[in-house]
Amino acid sequence: MPEGSTLIRGDRVYELIQFHFHTPSEHHVAGKSFPMEVHFVHKDTDRDTLGVLGVFLTPGATNAGFAGLAEAFPMRLGEEIAVDEVDPNGLLPASFGYWTYEGSLTTPPCTENGDWMVTMEPVQVGAADIKRFTSLYPSNARPIHSPNRRFILGLS
Ligand SMILES: [Zn+2]
Repeated sequence: MPEGSTLIRGDRVYELIQFHFHTPSEHHVAGKSFPMEVHFVHKDTDRDTLGVLGVFLTPGATNAGFAGLAEAFPMRLGEEIAVDEVDPNGLLPASFGYWTYEGSLTTPPCTENGDWMVTMEPVQVGAADIKRFTSLYPSNARPIHSPNRRFILGLS
């Protein structure tokens, strides 16, 4: 992402580095997964830690932002396609109640230095656009792990 997109939580400021999608969702709510989840990966501007915001995607009304991306999804794995304009705000829910915990990133090297935030409200995207993603990546979610000693806080 170009510079300038930030997430502010309390006195912490996180800069958006990149975002990516998983299917099915990597987080589960009450034992259930969602068809997709987007991860907004941020870097804390003061500390050497990451802050990842997860948002569940469910089939429903077409989401213009996601539909624009889905249209540009490459047809083959490994193919790269540049997109001109992406507004990540279009993939955020209307309400910002969220769960939060400290944990590792879900892709190697799975470094234990992330602040996870997961919004409680999912965002609707077109079912056909979900299909475009899942036909390329049938499953790219890390298997669910136990919370171990972590406390998961719900904030709304
Ligand atoms: Zn991820």
